[in-house]
Amino acid sequence: DQLQQKDEQYIWHSMKRYNPSTMVVKSADGSWIVDNEGKKYLDGMAGLWSVNVGYGRKELAEAAYAQLKELPYYPLTQSHQPAIELGEKLNQWLGGDYVIFFSNSGSEANEAAFKIARQYHQQKGEQGRYKFIARYRGYHGNSMGALAATGQAQRKYKYEPLGQGFIHVAPPDSYRFPDYHNAESYSEHCASEIDRVMTWELSETIAGVIMEPIITGGGVLIPHDSYMKKVKNICEKHGALLISDEVINGFGRTGKAFGFMNYGVQPDIVTMAKGITSSYLPLSATAVKREIYESFKGEGEYDHFRHVNTFGGNPACCAVALKNLEIMEKENLIERSREKGEDLLKALIDLEAHPLVGNVRGKGLLFGIELVQDKKTKEPLPADQVNAVIGACKAKGLLIGKNGDTVSGFNNVLTLAPPLNITDEDGAFLVKTLKEAIYTL
Ligand code: PMP
Repeated sequence: DQLQQKDEQYIWHSMKRYNPSTMVVKSADGSWIVDNEGKKYLDGMAGLWSVNVGYGRKELAEAAYAQLKELPYYPLTQSHQPAIELGEKLNQWLGGDYVIFFSNSGSEANEAAFKIARQYHQQKGEQGRYKFIARYRGYHGNSMGALAATGQAQRKYKYEPLGQGFIHVAPPDSYRFPDYHNAESYSEHCASEIDRVMTWELSETIAGVIMEPIITGGGVLIPHDSYMKKVKNICEKHGALLISDEVINGFGRTGKAFGFMNYGVQPDIVTMAKGITSSYLPLSATAVKREIYESFKGEGEYDHFRHVNTFGGNPACCAVALKNLEIMEKENLIERSREKGEDLLKALIDLEAHPLVGNVRGKGLLFGIELVQDKKTKEPLPADQVNAVIGACKAKGLLIGKNGDTVSGFNNVLTLAPPLNITDEDGAFLVKTLKEAIYTL
């Protein structure tokens, strides 16, 4: 087909994820996308874990149009109503007192977080605090700082040297851990490793820790409930800031407004993107505790946050975000994510009876299904077999994801993150189709 040919000729895709041939997507509605030939697929990944309110929401298109007519653009060197209202709304959603810095993408939100954290320490007179601790298998973005924070070598090694000062520790994997541990004790071990690293590196050199409450792109690694609280306490002990990367976890994905809310902590900085507009328009935010923000208000020439972003907090993007959050509130989509997530997890867990399904895990509408060759050794299933399941799903009209970590051979986790308003009928189709595809193995 002509479009397909032109795509091959002109478009540089970052990945060919589901199939060797890229699909040309024409339209979408609810949880379904339609390709250029009219074939429909249930989008089990909501785009890239991000279309939380589903496709085809005319209210969002109308909010963008109305705002573009009224005020298409003004930079946040001045201010405008949509940004102000969204700042106030996010502050409410966050359950703490935060000031909001807007950017356009998750990577930029994390870059801003790193710069804010370093400058904050400097302004307190702690010049030496520049290092960040992150976890292996975590993904934090594609730019030189956010990629440095990322703990997936396959995405990094061709572009090094990256931003300096990022140290990685093991993630709290609740499925794979040494025999002498259980999930809880291993989580505890992983948290206390952060304590040890901070001591060994010298607390006075540590700016902060960045983590997703639940690692997503690294294979949906759900920590034991106690982990994040322990990390927060360790950060406080060493004077480091905790940055919660909520780019995927946020906006209801894990059954709470933000992922950290599952774990009873209040981070110092929260970064968010994707679900803030359900990805209808690009927008991201770095939410910073008020006391950190206050340290930037000095009279000196260099006391401000010297970080300009031309498009960040664009009026139309903020208007869409406000409408998106209004939809989520009206339709109780956070509760829906929690409840529907529990239903789907119950339905999917039967898959553990299959000899090649090592583990089925989920929180809210975020799931990982880990495929193994042998349940005892947990040896990952080879890529061609994992891909065969994804191909079988696609042939039956279901798109799912594959995540994990390729360098270590653990790219064996099927992932699901459907729209939070997925209907019961579509949920049943998803489970049935995935089961059929896995039983073709
Ligand atoms: N953090 C996390 C956890 C992500 O999953 C992503 C993107 N998938 C990013 C940051 C970077 O976001 P973006 O692609 O919008 O720059």
